[in-house]
Amino acid sequence: MPAAVEKDSDAGSSGGLKDCAVVTIGTELLLGQIVDTNACYLAEALAEAGLRVRLRIAVGDEIGEIVDALRVALDRCALVITTGGLGPTLDDLTREAVAAVAGVPLEFREPLMADIEAIFKRYGYHMAENNRRQAFVPQGAEAVRNPVGTAPGFICRIGDKAIACLPGVPRELKVLFPSTVLPWIRRFFRLPEQVLFYRTLKTVGIGESQVDQSIGDLIKPGGDPEIGLLASEGEIKIRIAVRAGDREGALQRIAPVEEEIRSRLGRRIFGLDEETLESVIAALLTSRGLSLSILESFTSGTAACLVSRVDDFPLGEAQVIRSKASLMAWDQCREQNPGDRTSRSRPWEEADLRRFAAAFLSRSNADVALMILGCPERDAEGWQVDAHAIVADRTDLWKAFSWHMGGTCATLRSRGAVTGLNTLRLALLERTDPAAR
Ligand code: ATP
Repeated sequence: MPAAVEKDSDAGSSGGLKDCAVVTIGTELLLGQIVDTNACYLAEALAEAGLRVRLRIAVGDEIGEIVDALRVALDRCALVITTGGLGPTLDDLTREAVAAVAGVPLEFREPLMADIEAIFKRYGYHMAENNRRQAFVPQGAEAVRNPVGTAPGFICRIGDKAIACLPGVPRELKVLFPSTVLPWIRRFFRLPEQVLFYRTLKTVGIGESQVDQSIGDLIKPGGDPEIGLLASEGEIKIRIAVRAGDREGALQRIAPVEEEIRSRLGRRIFGLDEETLESVIAALLTSRGLSLSILESFTSGTAACLVSRVDDFPLGEAQVIRSKASLMAWDQCREQNPGDRTSRSRPWEEADLRRFAAAFLSRSNADVALMILGCPERDAEGWQVDAHAIVADRTDLWKAFSWHMGGTCATLRSRGAVTGLNTLRLALLERTDPAAR
């Protein structure tokens, strides 16, 4: 989220004075072999610090290309941050490129060499001669020591601008940037200690336009607090951002806005910040001492995969039934209710669902069952399914939700899984009160 920036005579002489550029280096980025998560991480971290990322460039391991990219970036921005190209091999050229742009030679730094040797010793690896290359930085640059890898970074001042170079490995970047480089950037730009704090409310079972209808009047770009929407598969995130000197002050200013949004969207908000639908369900089940078994047809195990991402999710059994023949038990339920057998023309009766749930739970060793069922059919427009999400225990049907949807097989799988899991979440909230247990 871009933050308002003040003019500052300390840094930069052309372009926006607190503008930054991110240059990510590595031929794999251009070949699409890796996703440029470093650029996203830096863009977000810089925006949170109140800086504007004006330019992002990805460039291959080619000295001329890197030099050109750095020159373009420096021309427009006061600060350029690079990642990658700091390894020991001949195609790691960031050091040489920055030295060329700064017009200085590379110089050897003994303390960096000692760090690299120590890392190799700690991991029990033999250090190759070419690792010495990593102890060189452009003359006069400030070294950024790397306690978690072999590639040190550096910050090189060029006139009233600067280039900060960090390793490409995301895990190392995420250690070095906040601990060493960000504090340096704050001093460089004389940034106030105010930072941007976020609270993210996550909704499910409601589309972006519906969220917009419910809270659109609160969304004012550039406001403080500023509210923004972010849509992703199956969920809409509502992000409340405020500028504040500390976390406590930020939370105080976020609280009334959050309360207003909650009063409008109620249980459609399933979680906050880092929470996921699966982690929220895991907490609901665990706090109630319940275990879950999942039976899926057209979602092909997607719901089971999602919940399995949560460590210690209380999952008993997960089963996928795909073929019509395997849906025999389902058919048997229907046989007890004569009439049209096609799911499209006859809605499932509650008694069908109850019987089917009882049959599944008698085989599976868990307290609660979630079943996501439906037989997709193909027509001229793609795939269609009459889908059912059923939540039951051994004796009782807790909640059943039926809906129709169309799309590709992949969208039916992912939306079906999310809708099924959301039905389970709502059933747990409606049905069980942990305080009463
Ligand atoms: P090292 O010597 O420790 O490998 P380096 O600075 O030379 O550091 P690279 O060799 O460019 O880094 O990249 C190392 C690995 O880090 C890559 O193979 C890739 O997996 C990952 N990586 C590099 N750049 C990015 C990026 N922009 N986004 C996400 N991952 C990246």
